[in-house]
Amino acid sequence: MRDIFDTHVHASDMDCTSDEIVRSMDSNGIRMQCMIAPMPTAGQREEMKAMPAKERMEGRRQFWSKTGRQANDYIARIASEKPDRIIALAFCDSISPDAPAELERAINKGCKGLKLFNIGHYPWDERCFPLYEKAEELGVPILFHSGILGDARNSRFHRPAEYEIVKMWPKLKVILAHIGWPWTDEAIATAGMCSRFAKIRQIHLDLTPGAPLDWREEATKKAIDYLPDYVLIFGTDGKSVGEMQGRVLRQQDYIFNKLRVSEELRHKIYWQNAMEFWGLDV
Ligand SMILES: [Zn+2]
Repeated sequence: MRDIFDTHVHASDMDCTSDEIVRSMDSNGIRMQCMIAPMPTAGQREEMKAMPAKERMEGRRQFWSKTGRQANDYIARIASEKPDRIIALAFCDSISPDAPAELERAINKGCKGLKLFNIGHYPWDERCFPLYEKAEELGVPILFHSGILGDARNSRFHRPAEYEIVKMWPKLKVILAHIGWPWTDEAIATAGMCSRFAKIRQIHLDLTPGAPLDWREEATKKAIDYLPDYVLIFGTDGKSVGEMQGRVLRQQDYIFNKLRVSEELRHKIYWQNAMEFWGLDV
């Protein structure tokens, strides 16, 4: 199997076993992956669809307060059963006063990182600061959603430049997902200001879709041309089981072939950068 690290996979629910997940990874050609705690769960996603749009964000927050701990426990257990294949990412509601304690609890259970999604607030909202401080104190990297949503929630909370606030905690390592699509230039500039000018390895970008293939090719080219080679990290946005990971990997190979990306750089983006980011042995 090739050295492929998928840094962005969602646990669909709390029902799949670690054996089922690893079988799916094997068939998709994925050697290691980060898995995000299932928030919301599959049932909750259905409930959200039935809610009026204006109630959905608050609904997500209430789901976290009800089942967030259980979701973090589930993903920590799955990862503990397959330590050489799966890295667990906890999910917290960043403005919840309970979030810093829940992060610490989830890390003690075995989670290695944190996934955040701004539920109707900007990432620079001061109510988020205690959680960022806790993550920095514990040395826990954060994967942030960045980019468009398209489901009646407000995409503006996830524009890449809004995440410049993380520079207040220079030891905090973060990934902005989806190269911030459709604000890919903004994402590349945000990461570039950090790495090229401030010379700190703090803001990384993951190459996860949404964007259409042409758009991804252009953004990948700009990112490779402009950014230091440790910034980009491969991801699929795949689910616990299914064929999406394999499909996105084939698309990524296609883009790299078209752009004539060197084997050395591919290895960094597919493997080494993620291993370093998540603090694993390289
Ligand atoms: Zn995602």
